[in-house]
Amino acid sequence: MMSLTNSPFEYALPHIQKLRGYTPGFQPKGDGWVKINTNENPYPPSPAVEAAIKEAMGDALRLYPDPRSDALREEAAKLHGVSSEQVIFGNGSDDILNLLVRAFAQESPAGYLLPSYSLYPVLCGIQGTGTVEVPFDRSMKLPFDALAKIEAKILFVTSPNAPTGVGFSNADLSRLIETFEGIVVVDEAYADFAEENATELLAKYRNLVVTRTFSKSYGLAGLRLGYGLADKDVISLLDRVRDSYNVNRLSQAGGLAALKDQRYLKAVAEKICRTRDYYRAEWEKLGWFCYPSQSNFLFVEPRNAAGEAGPKVAQELFEYLKANKILIRYFPSNPLTESFLRISVGDEDQMLRVSETIQKWLKNA
Ligand SMILES: *Cc1c(COP(=O)(O)O)cnc(C)c1O
Repeated sequence: MMSLTNSPFEYALPHIQKLRGYTPGFQPKGDGWVKINTNENPYPPSPAVEAAIKEAMGDALRLYPDPRSDALREEAAKLHGVSSEQVIFGNGSDDILNLLVRAFAQESPAGYLLPSYSLYPVLCGIQGTGTVEVPFDRSMKLPFDALAKIEAKILFVTSPNAPTGVGFSNADLSRLIETFEGIVVVDEAYADFAEENATELLAKYRNLVVTRTFSKSYGLAGLRLGYGLADKDVISLLDRVRDSYNVNRLSQAGGLAALKDQRYLKAVAEKICRTRDYYRAEWEKLGWFCYPSQSNFLFVEPRNAAGEAGPKVAQELFEYLKANKILIRYFPSNPLTESFLRISVGDEDQMLRVSETIQKWLKNA
């Protein structure tokens, strides 16, 4: 029998051998955790979603799904006032981001900002494409001058940004899209919690792609569903490079019901925004700096009882909360994030527990 003389590793593509995969937020096992580390929705999805999935069950497991997710495309087109040729659905918005890298970032590098969504470099790594990282400064405003100089055919901008929560105005995004010679992807995972979104700019710019997800505002992270909006020629390129059945039948049924229940979506988003704004004000009263958030999380720079801030303080509070079964997110790898903690907005009980545990931490110091 023939067998490999070398480790299978050595037969892999060189760029795959070097690849480091994405690190998802920690998924705790067991009960009793306040899990506010991955920006999931603390509230359940619209009840119409479960009903639609149950109804679709009949033949849903035996038959292939609609390869184009056409019903979803039409409903999203109606919602955003675009044509259904300007919409593509995917297995989470991560799928759409992956298709964008696949279609537009082969030979030239892909650009993105730091800090922003840490999946972009991983997708580029899978594709073997180069990257250009453009750093923010502490103001977290778009660095226009640096962005104007980059050599990339595709640029990813997260708005509202993660992990800061800072949203970019359509005026700022327009300025960027007009000067960028390539595709600008505005990743709007958190747009339902924001004051403004970029969909109205689609009528003006052929190089704009807006991506959306059902994982945050719709409370459907487990369903894996997201979409992209763009010029129809961009969509047709993305359609060429996607899996033929990239959205399963149950996700198509549930997602359609969720899209149709905009009233429920708005009510949940408003509730989360109210809780968010309440706790931002609370923490500012403690003297903690917190970026104005247009998302469902807060990025806050904690201070200890002595009034000190910094990476050691952030790490200490992160560990203290974890020891008390509260999971948030800490990003120690960047000087702009190492003194901060990202706290997803939970329901009122969860946030009360966070607040009380912070008080305990301040007293014990
Ligand atoms: C959560 C998140 C996504 C992921 O969306 P999925 O639809 O769950 O794949 C995309 N972009 C950003 C910025 C996110 O925070």
